[in-house]
Amino acid sequence: MRKPKILFSIILLLIVVLIIACVVKGSQKKSVATSISKVEIENNQIENINSIIPQNNSNEVSTINKKEDNKNNSNKKDNKKTSSTEKYKDVNETVYAIAKVHIRKKDNVNSKILATLKTGDTVKRIGIGDNGWSKIEYNNKEGYIYTQYISTEKPPEAQEIDLNIDPNRKIDSSKPMLALTFDDGPNPNSTPKILATLEKYNCVATFFDLGIYMESYPEITQKEEAIGCEVGSHTYAHKNLDNLSKDQILEDIKKAEKVYKSTLGHDLTMIRPPYGNANSTVRLTLNYPLINWDVDTEDWKSKDKKSILAQIKKVGNLDGRIVLMHSIYDSTADAIEELIPQLLKEGYQLVTVSELANYKGVELKTHTSYWGLK
Ligand SMILES: [Zn+2]
Repeated sequence: MRKPKILFSIILLLIVVLIIACVVKGSQKKSVATSISKVEIENNQIENINSIIPQNNSNEVSTINKKEDNKNNSNKKDNKKTSSTEKYKDVNETVYAIAKVHIRKKDNVNSKILATLKTGDTVKRIGIGDNGWSKIEYNNKEGYIYTQYISTEKPPEAQEIDLNIDPNRKIDSSKPMLALTFDDGPNPNSTPKILATLEKYNCVATFFDLGIYMESYPEITQKEEAIGCEVGSHTYAHKNLDNLSKDQILEDIKKAEKVYKSTLGHDLTMIRPPYGNANSTVRLTLNYPLINWDVDTEDWKSKDKKSILAQIKKVGNLDGRIVLMHSIYDSTADAIEELIPQLLKEGYQLVTVSELANYKGVELKTHTSYWGLK
């Protein structure tokens, strides 16, 4: 009788272990599901995060240094890979700098800077390494450049665009002016409220609308332009362009251009890239000026009228500034109702981005990012 009892106990123990294993697996799955939804939420908030710390892509060298530093750090584990003895595949070709980039003595970010190339400068490449560096010849000396910032393809030249200036609008160039800009719309609830306030005070702003919403609410985008505002594109689907290939960037922008033209009957002239992100691939691919901002109201973060107004007040002199807001929040619409008469009282003229560039003497060029027009 004893043996069957032991056998029974072993079976019972196995069942218990099996049940525990199932429970643990189930809770793991649940935690994976929780982290996926967290990632989704975080992705939705990327713009918010990036708005806090706008990435100033005009300072390409500092971006490169960060990237080089990261690479350097990751390669520290394997010093052989970062050394100049790394094998380079022989080539003999002319390459163009596609951003401002350093030539270094060795293929290491800590190595001495021999020279700095500007976008469009050429050098002779004599080797391509699988460590991310290219060996080049410069002034009869050997040097190294980070491969990501050179190309065999000649980068397009930045061309000045025709500004959208209404000769009937009277603007005094000697008086202060600023450009209010609204992203992510049109939105059927809050955008009409913003437009009503602008109309009430006979003021204009610039809207960077998304292709997907222009398709749904074309009449709102048309109204923006009808009351004298400027309309740019915030791309078709609000993707982070820095993560896309050249073809993917063009695919999105072609869709945005098509919706824009069918909605407004004329061609697009300026783009605000989502999150303000425009790396060298984005800038070389997009044949538009890329208009960012130099005042962030953080309306997306606070969603609170008082905070939005306080954020603007904090800046002090707003002359020549481009103010970032979003046309998709009621709190922003409420803030505008109070902000506009206040700005007018302080003597500011509210102008479009094109007008601001025109009166501040800034030529807006294609393939160029602008963080303000001062
Ligand atoms: Zn946006």
